[in-house]
Amino acid sequence: MIAKPKRPLSRLYFLVIFSFFVPLVGFFIYAIKDNVAFLFLTIALMVNVILLITFHRRLQKKQSTIVLQKEDYFERANLLKAELEQEWKTIESFRHKIINYGQLKELTEQLSLCLGLEETSKTLCSLVNQLLGHQDITVILYLFHSATGDLGITSSQRGQMAINLKAKKGDIFDQWVVKTLNPLLVEDAHTDFRFDVEKIDSEDGRSVRSLISAPLIVGDKTLGILRVDSSSPHHFATDDLRFLRTIGDLASIAIENAQLYKKVEDLAIRDGLTGLYLRRYMLDRLQEEMGRELRRGKELCFLMIDLDRFKQYNDRFGHIAGDMVLRTVAGILLQHFPQAGDLVCRYGGEEFCVLLPDCPKEKAVELAHEVRKEIQAHEIVLRRQKTHVSASIGVAAFPTDARTKEELIIKADEALYKAKETGRNKVIAA
Ligand code: GH3
Ligand code: MG
Ligand code: MG
Repeated sequence: MIAKPKRPLSRLYFLVIFSFFVPLVGFFIYAIKDNVAFLFLTIALMVNVILLITFHRRLQKKQSTIVLQKEDYFERANLLKAELEQEWKTIESFRHKIINYGQLKELTEQLSLCLGLEETSKTLCSLVNQLLGHQDITVILYLFHSATGDLGITSSQRGQMAINLKAKKGDIFDQWVVKTLNPLLVEDAHTDFRFDVEKIDSEDGRSVRSLISAPLIVGDKTLGILRVDSSSPHHFATDDLRFLRTIGDLASIAIENAQLYKKVEDLAIRDGLTGLYLRRYMLDRLQEEMGRELRRGKELCFLMIDLDRFKQYNDRFGHIAGDMVLRTVAGILLQHFPQAGDLVCRYGGEEFCVLLPDCPKEKAVELAHEVRKEIQAHEIVLRRQKTHVSASIGVAAFPTDARTKEELIIKADEALYKAKETGRNKVIAA
């Protein structure tokens, strides 16, 4: 604010004129009485004084107009200053918006380069961390599992590092977002009346005092939640939440694309009926695994599994029942070979194969015996009738029995053939 100037003091000026005027009146009275010549001089002086007063008054008037004009200018200057400040604020907010749009553009570009879900999730968490620019924040991406429908952490990042959080299912804040499908800003968890303080501390011992969270929605489908939290209170403001929501909208599309990509990828490598890997994929993996085992000097085993007299089963109970059996057997195999590197695949028709990296042949034969027993023991109820199927299994090991993948498959197939020839429902090793 510009300060207004003070009016000049004119009282003193009046006093001076007045002090001139009084002696002149004295002179005038004296002149009338004693000296006529002095009278003219006095009149002339009085005229001068009157002229002086008139000029003074005019000057004063002019001065007050100038003062008024000055005040007006100051008023206008203040208004202009206020307008300028407002303009600066608008420019500043535009600048901020341009930076944000630039960052969002970069985020969209980076996300569009990602194909897989894992890559998309990691890139998203890392970019959100960079964009919110805080070192002491944790970014968590929760997605609903397509098969179970449960909410689970897909990726999380603290500072520059991807981290592995123990609490996988989400806390009361995440449940709130899932339930209301609204974005959430918690400035201080300890004073927020919506949440019970007792239930706040997360399972993995992280203390969460403030957070922002946005649901990830595409059309009418909720994909998950994007959340950023901090151990200190009042870490986030409404602007941060607004920014996170925009990021969430962009990320939702990228995540949906990644999920669709995964589906297409799965369609190419997985069997539609059983969900097991297809032979083509298994052959690629077999090649890779054989190279690895050679370097490590370990053994890799290959199991060829064929259902016994399955044609008869189909003829008796129908093709749909046969399909159900194939799905059941696939489930048994997956359960029986849960190790990270194990690969269960549908080789074709009613034939399955299992790849067991880093597994000695004796162990593979033992596992084959166990799974054969399990398949045989499994009860399949069809039209209130209890039915059973059995399987024959051929086992071959690399590099013990074969040097190439083709040879390994032939060896396992030959062993399977032997099992069939010698009565079925048995395991034979090459
Ligand atoms: P073996 O003990 O000698 O293996 O006898 P098998 O009857 O199992 O052998 P075969 O090769 O003669 O018959 C395989 C049968 O598997 C023929 C076909 O009806 C059935 N089959 C192959 N693929 C499918 C499928 O996707 N669904 C169903 N329901 N049956 C299938
Ligand atoms: Mg067969
Ligand atoms: Mg068969």
